[in-house]
Amino acid sequence: MTVLRLDRSGGLAPGNKQFKLAPHLAAIAAAGHRRVLSFGGAWSNHLHALAAAGQPAGLRTVGVIRGERPAALSPTLAEASAWGMQLHFVSRSDYRRRHEPGFIASLAGQLEIDYVIPEGGAGPLAVAGCRPLAEMIAARFPAGARIVVGVGTGTTLAGLAAALPASFCVDGVLALRGAGALADSIAAWVEAAGTGGSARWRLHDNFHCGGFARSNARLQTLMLGSERELGLPLEPVYTGKVLLALHSMLASGAWSARDPVVLVHTGGLQGRRGYPWLD
Ligand SMILES: *Cc1c(COP(=O)(O)O)cnc(C)c1O
Repeated sequence: MTVLRLDRSGGLAPGNKQFKLAPHLAAIAAAGHRRVLSFGGAWSNHLHALAAAGQPAGLRTVGVIRGERPAALSPTLAEASAWGMQLHFVSRSDYRRRHEPGFIASLAGQLEIDYVIPEGGAGPLAVAGCRPLAEMIAARFPAGARIVVGVGTGTTLAGLAAALPASFCVDGVLALRGAGALADSIAAWVEAAGTGGSARWRLHDNFHCGGFARSNARLQTLMLGSERELGLPLEPVYTGKVLLALHSMLASGAWSARDPVVLVHTGGLQGRRGYPWLD
């Protein structure tokens, strides 16, 4: 197993988010925009990375956060706020409208926003931003490999699949339960990228451990063990579940340990602070 340690690059915005945000930051700079809005929860790696990347770029970032303002901010939001992100809390029912153009337009008007990035940075621009990742892997494994990666919006998986040839297989491990419609958006993004990728890809929906940000004893034991034995820090939302999927597929014989496998460490370690059992 080879681990692509994206958690170790990108400074304060490590992991896959540095790649997903790069084309947005370029578009924002090119158009001279100043106030950027995006969406997320209290532990959002995406908002955390946007706040970190926005500050040195001289941007005013605004995070629209799901739920009422808590008495004490999560460390994620406290840091984002310290980096200059304005936190705008909305009720859970309003948050469900985050994809509605009318709702986005009214938020943008109220908060004087000139650029909006969808929740999780999802979408075609970010798909294109993940191309360098595919190139890194292809340079290292010219004959192809299996790539295992965590899936939230599926944007990173789409970026890999869109840029790699048929000698690669991209296995996406779903962090959420019941993400049924995701396969359609991924297929559409791969197609729209038009970059000639013909890698096979598939989604695994049986390693979410109960749902987004949930964990169970098996995941915890595996994560703590790998950390102790491999010195590989993971977090339970995405990368821990990727390791769990890899272990399970190898143990069942569905995948062969002789075939080259790349585990993409997509970062997210700032979110470990939400899990006392990791201390
Ligand atoms: C955001 C994130 C993902 C999911 O990326 P998508 O492109 O939304 O599928 C995976 N791992 C980590 C650590 C993340 O922060």
